[in-house]
Amino acid sequence: MTSYNSPSSLEAGLKCRCPRCGQGKLFSGFLGLADKCEVCGLDYGFADPADGPAFFVMSGVGVIVVAAWAWWAIAANPPVWLQLAVVFPAVIGGCLATLRPVKAWLVAEQFVHKAEEGRIASPGKHGEGGFCIDRRATSDRQTGEQP
Ligand SMILES: [Zn+2]
Repeated sequence: MTSYNSPSSLEAGLKCRCPRCGQGKLFSGFLGLADKCEVCGLDYGFADPADGPAFFVMSGVGVIVVAAWAWWAIAANPPVWLQLAVVFPAVIGGCLATLRPVKAWLVAEQFVHKAEEGRIASPGKHGEGGFCIDRRATSDRQTGEQP
């Protein structure tokens, strides 16, 4: 088995690289994931952070920008048109700039922790092995009792 010099999930996220080898590109578009790593061949099929990146980016950028906006508005009392002209681009730019690394980071965390949807381990097979052992044990006992 090949061993990989895997980057930390934070490093893989910031560089938007493959979480296993740290070399291959993770994205094929702005936010679309590639099918697999071009360097180590890791299948990115496991990666499904869903709306996690959007939630974290929206919350993080929103809190930071609104806090800075509130401080600026109180400290400098700039005209409203200037506030809007600065704040809207800051929110949009902040979200666009952080979406890729945050998504790459969440995919890397998913890879490291092998996170996936819950599955039922053995549907309809409970005790399957037990019956076999019981049957063999019974026939062994019967054989042993015969003279
Ligand atoms: Zn790779």
